[in-house]
Order: sequence, then C-alpha cells, then structure tokens
Amino acid sequence: MTSLSNAAVRDIETVIHPYTNLDAFRGTGPMIIERGEGIHVWDADGRKYIEGLAGLWCTSLGYNEPELIEAATEQLRQLPFTHVFGGKSHERAAELAEKLKAIVPHKASKILFCGSGSEANDQQVKLVWYYNNARGQTKRKKIISRQRAYHGVTVASASLTGLLPNHRDFDLPLSFARHTDCPHYYRYAEPGETEDEFTTRLAQNLEKMIIEEDPETVAAFIAEPIMGAGGVIIPPEGYFQKIQAVLDKYGIYFIADEVICGFARTGNMFGSQTFGIKPDSISVAKALSSAYVPIAAVTIGEDMYQAMLDESKKIGTFGHGFTYTAHPVAAAVAAKTLEIYDKRNIVGHVRSVAPKFEARVARLAEHPLVGHARAKGLIGAIELVAEKTSKRSFDPAAGIGAAVVKAAEKHGLIVRALGGDIVAFCPPLIVKDADIDDIFDRAEHALDDVE
Ligand code: PLP
Repeated sequence: MTSLSNAAVRDIETVIHPYTNLDAFRGTGPMIIERGEGIHVWDADGRKYIEGLAGLWCTSLGYNEPELIEAATEQLRQLPFTHVFGGKSHERAAELAEKLKAIVPHKASKILFCGSGSEANDQQVKLVWYYNNARGQTKRKKIISRQRAYHGVTVASASLTGLLPNHRDFDLPLSFARHTDCPHYYRYAEPGETEDEFTTRLAQNLEKMIIEEDPETVAAFIAEPIMGAGGVIIPPEGYFQKIQAVLDKYGIYFIADEVICGFARTGNMFGSQTFGIKPDSISVAKALSSAYVPIAAVTIGEDMYQAMLDESKKIGTFGHGFTYTAHPVAAAVAAKTLEIYDKRNIVGHVRSVAPKFEARVARLAEHPLVGHARAKGLIGAIELVAEKTSKRSFDPAAGIGAAVVKAAEKHGLIVRALGGDIVAFCPPLIVKDADIDDIFDRAEHALDDVE
C-alpha cells in the first residue's frame, strides 16, 4: 500500500465523503486537490491533471477566472450577506434574475433561488404541490421521472432520482414519485427495434403509466435533457417530442432539469433547446456560477406565480426559503458568470470545439473495451463491455470503470466512472481543440493500460 500523506490521513479521520465506498477508501485515502488553473488542477504531491469532468460537471470557466474572483471579492467587501426574506433584498438578486430570465428556454416570470441542484428540484416538487393546491387541483401530486435519472439527494429530489444507491436503505422513494423508462437505446432497445420504434414504445409506456395512475393525480414530469450521473444518456432523435405530446395531452407540467445541460454544455444555452423540449420550468445550478460558489435556481412561469401570489395572501406569507436564498456573493459571481458567457460567446465556442470532442469520443468506440461511445456538445461517455457483439457487461466486482479512472489519473487525466462501467467526459467549457486531443490521447492510453 502506498503511504498516505498527512493531509489524507487527517481527512480519513474526520470527513465523510459522498458517493464513496467508505470502507475501501480507508486504505487509499482521497486525492487532495490543492490548486487549479485553466482546465488543470494539481494534487498535494504537485502532480498536474486535466480536469476532464469539470469537477462534477460544473467548473465551466476553469479554475482561475479572474473576473469571477474579482466579482466575489468585491461583493465580500461591500456586503457579504443579507437575506432576502420579508421585505429585504440586495441589487445582485435582481441583476441575476433579470439575466437568467433573458436566456431561459421558456417564458419565466420570476426566479426562486436556492443553494444546490438538489434544493432546486426539491423546490420544484414543493412549487408544483403548492400550485396545484392553490388552483384547487389538490389530487394532482404525483411526479414522474425516469429510471437512471439523477435529480439530487434531498428526500424529495432523491425520490425523483432513479438510481438504487440513492433509494436503498434510505426508505426512498417517497410515494409521490414514479419512474418511467430510461431512453438508453443501446441498452434497452428490444432486438431489432429501430430508434423510432423504441421512442414510440417509451411514449406509449408513459401514457399507460399516466392512465393507470389516473391522469388527474399526475402533476409533473421531470427530465434531464441528457441524463448525466445515470450514464450520460443521450436520448434518440424525436424522443422528447413524443414524450411531450403525451404530457400535453394530460396537462402535465414539464420540468427540465438543466443542472448539467444548462449554460452551453450541449451546444445551445440550454439542453431543452438542443432536444426541442418546451419546459414549463427549469432547474439550474452548477455552471450558473461556474461552481465558484454554491447557487441554484428554479424558473417560475406567470400562471404559477399568480397562483403563488393569491395563495400567499391567504396566510400572509409564502412559507418557503433558505437563509442563503439569493446569497449576495453567490448572486454576484453568478451574474458575472452569465455576463462572461454572453460576452465571450460561450455557445459559439462550444459549437466550434464540439465536432472535435464528439469525433474523439466516437473514436474510442474502436477500442476493444468500449461497447458504446456517445457525445453531444462537450459531454460524452464510453460504456465498457466484456464482449462487444453481445454487449455483455463486466462483472461489477471487476471494477472496470474504476480501473479506467485510475489509469487515466496515472496519465494526468481526471474522469469519472458512473454505475461501474461507464466513463464520463465533461471538461470545462473553455477547452480548446488541442486540449481535447490531449484529453482523449490520455484516455486512449488509460484504456490500453486496462485492456
Ligand atoms: N440534477 C442533476 C441533473 C444533477 O446532475 C445534479 C448533480 O449532479 C443534481 C440535480 C443535484 O445537484 P447538487 O449536487 O448541486 O445538489
């Protein structure tokens, strides 16, 4: 066993790590990340890595963007905190809300801020319930998400998440949540089924579920345009159109979880635009502030806002909000982040480098370990298989994804394994063509090492 640094030992003694095998971890300890610059980070031993997952799909502008550092510093000096409850506010809140309203992929009336993607989706659940109570549709409470969806870890958002580790032993999901099919054609298509037949079947299954549940009890559907943590699952062409037609038929509210796809990741400002989704509301987090400070938000349409307005009159308050709702430092950094996206044309930049990214991901499919390779914009993944033709998966005990991640780290590249056999790529949006080659040259070496 390699000897652990002092920092790693202190960490093991004191810190609980999310999404970590706490037992295995005691032997290896964490990689202590010490500093970052551009698309790179350095560990405590001075080793340099490309951050191939932008942290957790979030450090869109890289690691030392001076304008964001300046925005945070200036706000900290001027006013590090005020709350926005009951009659108080600060200028950065409205500045950020205006900027967001101007770019989101639906007509938003108001913005409700919070601190994380999980909180955003939790707020979505509460808002939908509040709205339906306000308009007298008190039975409409169920929310449909999808198997393999990732919507966060609060009690409500984890219920919407469609992954076993988020449910098992936590007594979840709660009874309001339903999970329909995951649109992963490579894994879940029937033999001989075309993409079109597959997406038709999924839409039919959704409709069956709605009818069985009783349409009058179904409030909303929530979906990531591209599923992230569930395996970077890119839906086949036409999928969302068919799903949306079913939802429209039964008057079901569409929440787009743009926590990963938002802010240019897929080559449009929002994933909803890339996939032709017409959401009633979106959740944003992560790249909203390039992850420099925690902040997230939910967009609210005029109908819902009017209902909230009427309802809040009844007991004299809208009974929801966090101490850190629209935190001024976070709002200042997020407003600056959106300003940078605009003035540096981040969407144009992503479109200019996406062809190289998509081609280099596609090339990984030639590797003997890779059963499927997929990418859109600057997000992609490979699915590792024991046998290509039959798509036979590796025994989970083999830890194939973790082995590739480890090998990639030896080659100076940080990537992430999902569900044991998928390896995801999602670099900071500021990557250039040469960086993309660098990322995938290292990934190819890593795969060769593991083969
Ligand atoms: N929604 C999506 C699509 C996500 O990918 C994530 C996190 O990865 C979340 C919600 C939860 O966000 P957070 O970890 O900030 O609570």
